[in-house]
Amino acid sequence: MKKSGLITLTDRGLYCKRGDFYIDPWKPVKKAILTHAHADHTYRGNEYYLVPFEGERLSRIRLGDEANISTQKYGEISDINGVKVSFYPAGHVLGSAQVRVEFAGEVWVCSGDYKLMPDATCAQFEPVKCHHFITEATFGLPIYRWQPTEFIFEDINTWWRKNQEKGKASVIFAYSLGKSQRVMNGIDRSIGKIFTHGAVERLTQAYRETGIALPDTQYVGSVENKKDFVGSLIVAPPGSHGSTWMKRFGSHSTGFASGWMMVRGARRQRAVDRGFVLSDHADWPELLRAIESSEAETVYVTHGFSEEVVRYLNETGFNATPLKTQYVGDEHSEGEEIEQG
Ligand SMILES: [Zn+2]
Ligand SMILES: [Zn+2]
Repeated sequence: MKKSGLITLTDRGLYCKRGDFYIDPWKPVKKAILTHAHADHTYRGNEYYLVPFEGERLSRIRLGDEANISTQKYGEISDINGVKVSFYPAGHVLGSAQVRVEFAGEVWVCSGDYKLMPDATCAQFEPVKCHHFITEATFGLPIYRWQPTEFIFEDINTWWRKNQEKGKASVIFAYSLGKSQRVMNGIDRSIGKIFTHGAVERLTQAYRETGIALPDTQYVGSVENKKDFVGSLIVAPPGSHGSTWMKRFGSHSTGFASGWMMVRGARRQRAVDRGFVLSDHADWPELLRAIESSEAETVYVTHGFSEEVVRYLNETGFNATPLKTQYVGDEHSEGEEIEQG
């Protein structure tokens, strides 16, 4: 990355010197612009935050009531020390955005995390033309190709129904921000009752308050009769697997909804009965499509298989460079935590 560029990489994060702001900084700064509310993009301790309007409630949950948060709608432009800053939908989770930064005719877009596949729980990814595109590469290998979402949900529904016939509960592990709500939205709610872990319930409530229609759910902690769990679906963060919290469900089957379930051995490693390949990140073809449609002259690649994506891009006529950021987040097997998603 050129030292003179409009955006540079510093030890605190991506920095725009001209506007004196950071994008998704991992160390405290004065002015932070956030792409979305996942833990590896939303750190506490900044003096001021600018977040996408639809992500406000989710950001609040992570940052606390005392945080100084301003919001901006998709497509609106704010002027920060003469630099034009705007958000465009990233299609990753509710209130996720690509950040477009423009100064003196030079345009940068920082993608944050994104996917192109439609998701009823958030706004659809919008391609934004720019000179410099900073893209994630969480699933940046040709082996990662997602099936249409309907197929995945057919599998989940069948699994739930079969468990129900056997008098079992179905516990599905999904990151609490984004994936959990996508699961609830996509499953056949006529099959049975849906219960939630506390972390999931809290974020689901924030989704509803933001205007996303989701099926009725009940917080597991409010259930008095354990028989209620028989035949039901329980949505819980991966961190709750194997904890004593699970004991109350009696006979049950476990499933895990994540892009990583495509990796050989991942299901066994997670010790779950079923793996469902459902990701909130772009797969290989989507990454290439997003990069192409940006029409960028330079592509910076971060977050995941950046070296591999860079090599491929440079071999196929793009001008690409890896960027060493500290986003090791949501769908990374190492980086998860209960409140994260
Ligand atoms: Zn994310
Ligand atoms: Zn991330």
